[in-house]
Amino acid sequence: MENLLIPGTGCAGLTAAIYGARANLSPLVLEGGQPGGQLTTTSDVENFPGFPEGIDGYTLTDNMRQQAARFGARFESDIIESADFTGPVKRFRAASGKTYEARAAIIATGAAPRLLGIPGEKEHFGGKGVSTCATCDGAFYRGKEIVVIGGGDSACEEALFLTRFASRVFLVHRRDAFRATDVLAKRVFAHAKITPVLSSVPVEILGGADGKVRALAVKHAVTGAATELSVSGVFVAVGHRPNTVAFAGVLPLDESGYIVPLVPGGVRTAVQGVFVAGDCADHEYQQAIAAAGAGCRAGIEAVRWLETAA
Ligand code: NAP
Repeated sequence: MENLLIPGTGCAGLTAAIYGARANLSPLVLEGGQPGGQLTTTSDVENFPGFPEGIDGYTLTDNMRQQAARFGARFESDIIESADFTGPVKRFRAASGKTYEARAAIIATGAAPRLLGIPGEKEHFGGKGVSTCATCDGAFYRGKEIVVIGGGDSACEEALFLTRFASRVFLVHRRDAFRATDVLAKRVFAHAKITPVLSSVPVEILGGADGKVRALAVKHAVTGAATELSVSGVFVAVGHRPNTVAFAGVLPLDESGYIVPLVPGGVRTAVQGVFVAGDCADHEYQQAIAAAGAGCRAGIEAVRWLETAA
């Protein structure tokens, strides 16, 4: 049986692993479908304290992983599908067919990008022109016209990043003003390659005879006027949904699926010995540094809890 199991390897899980490992618990960290978490798909992280010139997301999380491993954290690749917290031993069934047992656990499963659910989106997802990751797929659109959908920080960052490759980036947002932080919104408006398309609701992603994306159909939010933007790539950046399906019924979840801690913003859950950290419980901040901070607190709480439960 494990002392401490940590499903999730984003900033939250890795920071919790550093604290658990330094307390000699040799935590087992489960790396899911995206080892390193969402930050690995971010090129420049400019707001993580300590890096005045910024740092790329992959390097940042890889450094954290090495730091946790140095103190004895162990890593396995698996995805938790269900959990049983009825007894003192926490049991987790995983996609590999394995059951993991632990005295304590820190859930740090993060969140995944949301999709729009409009016609043409699923059909063209992946190599056919629809993506949720500019860092992963941007280079395929060198010299092409593309569109980013969304009005938050993610959409603005994706649009700015994609100007490295695309000849033109439409930034389609359904409202008349971006909700992104001022510094990002200003950079977007100032960029010669970015064309903001405001008050426009995406309606359908249209494909050509070759099966690849040829246009995005949008409808004006006020007048209802229909337009087609001729693009070969569509990047969807409309927020995230938490990776918490495995915990439905065993931990309290809110209406959007985020784990509800015992006290707002806290890391303890309704189950003794089960803690939570990062984006799977945070719909408000969703920042790497906030996730790392929660991972630190959850790590300390888990160490304390194991000491008193022993
Ligand atoms: P977000 O702030 O929730 O923004 C999502 C955007 O998508 C909103 O503008 C929303 O429109 C739009 N949207 C949602 N559903 C839509 C739909 N069905 N059709 C069309 N548009 C839709 O998400 P985010 O940008 O991923 O940011 C999440 C959090 O991470 C935020 O706290 C953000 O500050 C943070 N973040 C920070 C950075 C950074 O600091 N560098 C980078 C990325 C993310 P409405 O505006 O109409 O709701």
